[in-house]
Amino acid sequence: MPTYAYRCTECGTEFDIYQRFDEDSLTNCPRCDAPLRKLFSPTGIVFKGSGFYRTDSRKGSSTPSSKD
Ligand SMILES: [Zn+2]
Repeated sequence: MPTYAYRCTECGTEFDIYQRFDEDSLTNCPRCDAPLRKLFSPTGIVFKGSGFYRTDSRKGSSTPSSKD
């Protein structure tokens, strides 16, 4: 069942609900009855800011060159 995230345009309440495809989407806030805004990214999908990986392989043999 898909999850739809909504945000109230008035009180800022965010919530996500499970709805079937044949169900009508919510249009009004259950709290203040203000119009809701459908969010594109449900809260189940979280983009954490650690998507970059530095692969600087400086670990390991960092010993100075041995003098013979
Ligand atoms: Zn509201």
